[in-house]
Parts: sequence; structure tokens; C-alpha cells
Amino acid sequence: MPHPPDHAVLTIDLDALAHNRAVLAAEAAGAEIGAVVKADGYGLGAGPVARRLYAEGARSFFVARVSEGEALRSELGARDAAIYVLDGLPTGTADRMAAARLIPVISTLPQANAALARAAAMGRYAVALQVDTGMNRQGLTLPEVRALLATPGALDRLEVVLVMSHLGSATVPGEARNPAQLARFREVRALFPGVPASFAASAGAFLGVDYRHDLVRGGVSLYGGGPEERPDGRLKAVATLTAPILDIRNLQPGDRLSYGEVFTAVRAVRAAVVAAGYADGILRGAAGKGYAWAAGARRPLLAVNMDLTIIEIGDAPLAPGESVELLGPNVLIDDLATAAGTVAHEILVRLSRRAERVYLGDVA
Ligand SMILES: *Cc1c(COP(=O)(O)O)cnc(C)c1O
Repeated sequence: MPHPPDHAVLTIDLDALAHNRAVLAAEAAGAEIGAVVKADGYGLGAGPVARRLYAEGARSFFVARVSEGEALRSELGARDAAIYVLDGLPTGTADRMAAARLIPVISTLPQANAALARAAAMGRYAVALQVDTGMNRQGLTLPEVRALLATPGALDRLEVVLVMSHLGSATVPGEARNPAQLARFREVRALFPGVPASFAASAGAFLGVDYRHDLVRGGVSLYGGGPEERPDGRLKAVATLTAPILDIRNLQPGDRLSYGEVFTAVRAVRAAVVAAGYADGILRGAAGKGYAWAAGARRPLLAVNMDLTIIEIGDAPLAPGESVELLGPNVLIDDLATAAGTVAHEILVRLSRRAERVYLGDVA
């Protein structure tokens, strides 16, 4: 067996990504599965992620920033992908948006007016409209949509290619806000007959047929995060972070470990010092609650420092140089997120560039 690497390695499994896309596609049968690749593909590399998802059939991509859209357009080259920019049409970006053929997701009346002003130069300007159905974060209100529709010539100059909205409580299937948002979204849809509609992100895709509409904006579940913020056995881990053991230490009752009050041994504790820490993306808040995986079992996280994580290993036959899994198929992303008091999205985007990155599977 080759010696394990002497440093942390982040493995990004593109076959697992393709698997997760197929899970979403089966769950949301009939809807197109678009890919949300904002924040550099949730930290995993927007280029390889988007190219593989394109090969799997994705044709609609969503980013947050204009600069992300420009980078994605060059990553995708001649592929005929629609790239939607969730920020809309930020002031001063219209030329860049047009040059990279980015579709603004219009969420305010000023953005709509900027698109109308620009439309003369574009022939007809292809835009998506985002409507606020109850998340109160982004999107035109229903009266604003009606006002836009009443603007003379608006729909001659704007080609609405997608009507969308976003759910605020989709991770909780029983939440009353879900059907309330759905009812409002149906009102909006009725104003745009024949225009494709997108309502569900990952979690919404699992809420049943009423929530799917034409295009699912798949995000965290493509990358292995469960739709209800807990592990979902149908999905595979895309990101795996491993790091080697540097040292093994024996703490005696009363010994204090690491900084401050983080851990005091009340019995003899055998601990492994692992060469990855919060600078590599293992959130400090997971100490005392989360686990790693080594020698075939879960190992409690005792302390997470910037460069080092210390785990309890009992009498496992582990030695310096051996590899510990800090995130991956055995350290479930939703468990780590819960331990750190956050969501899988944040775990992913905080994975740093310090670990060596290795892609598995065809990038396409
Ligand atoms: C980030 C985002 C998504 C993807 O959400 P996930 O929970 O990762 O699936 C979809 N739509 C909008 C508007 C978003 O901001």
C-alpha cells in the first residue's frame, strides 16, 4: 500500500456529483435540473463542477455575482448553457453581462428599469424575473410585477425567459410558509403563461410535485447535503477531506488540552493530533460535538485549532502518518454542520485552498 500523503487532501468526487444529480432528477421527475454553482461551485471548483454537470445534461446554471458568471462562461467555452446571475443587473455591469451572455435575475423595479433601458441596444433583452413570495429577501412583490406588466412596451422589450421565486422554509416539509409561498407563486405564474417557472432549490425539489415546476435550482444536494439538513442516504459525499496524524498523546485525568477550557480529561484519554484545522475548513465550533473517522470508527473531535485537530482514538491501532477522514463518506457533511451550528452550504464554502485538491471522475 502506498504511503498516505503527508498533508491534507481535499478529494472532489465528480462521479458522486453526477450520482446526486441523478437522485435529484429522479425525485423531481419531469423538471429540468439546473445547477447552482455560485461561490466557486460551493467551494468545490465551479469549472470542473459545471463542466461535469453539463456532460450530465445540465443546461441552466446559476451564479450570484457577475464576475462568477464571466468566469463560468469562459470555463464552459462553446457549450450552449444559460447562465443566470442572481444579483440581477448591478449598476454599471450591463456591457459585461452582455459580453458574457449572462441572464440577469431581475429582483427590483430599478433593475427592471435598467434592463428596459438597456433593451434598445439588445434587440429584446432576455431576463429572468424573481418574485418575492414570502422569504422577504429578494424579488419583486406581486404589485411590482403587475406594475411592470402594465408598463407600455415592457414585454416587447424584455423577453422573460424564467419566472422564479425562492422558498424560505423548504428544509422543514411541514412548515406553513411553504404552501403559503406556493399559492403566491401560482398567482405569479398565471401572469406569465408559457414562461418556464423555477421555484425549488434542493430542498424544495423533495417537497412533492407541486413544488417542482419546470426548473429545479439544484445546489447543496448536488454536493451531498441532505434536503432536510440531516444526512440523506440517497446522496453521496462529493467532498472528502483527509489529513495525516502527526502525533499520538496520552492525557491523564485532569490534563487540559489545547487552548483555554476546550477539553479537560476526566479519565485517561488517548488522542491523535491531526494536521488540519479551521484554516482548512473544519469549523472550530464542531469541537466537543462532531466526529472524525479513523481505523474504521467515529472518533470524537476534542479540539479544533487553526492547523491542528485533536481527536480521541481510544485503543485504536493508529500511528503517526496514518490518515484521518475529517469530512467525507464516513463524516457526514450534515452531521459536521449540525455539530458546528451551521448548514452544509457553509461547511462546503469554507473548505480552504490549503489542502491539496484532487478530482476523481471525468471532468468532461
Ligand atoms: C443558493 C440558492 C439556491 C440553491 O440553494 P440550495 O439550498 O443550495 O439548493 C437556489 N436558489 C437561489 C435563489 C439561491 O440563492
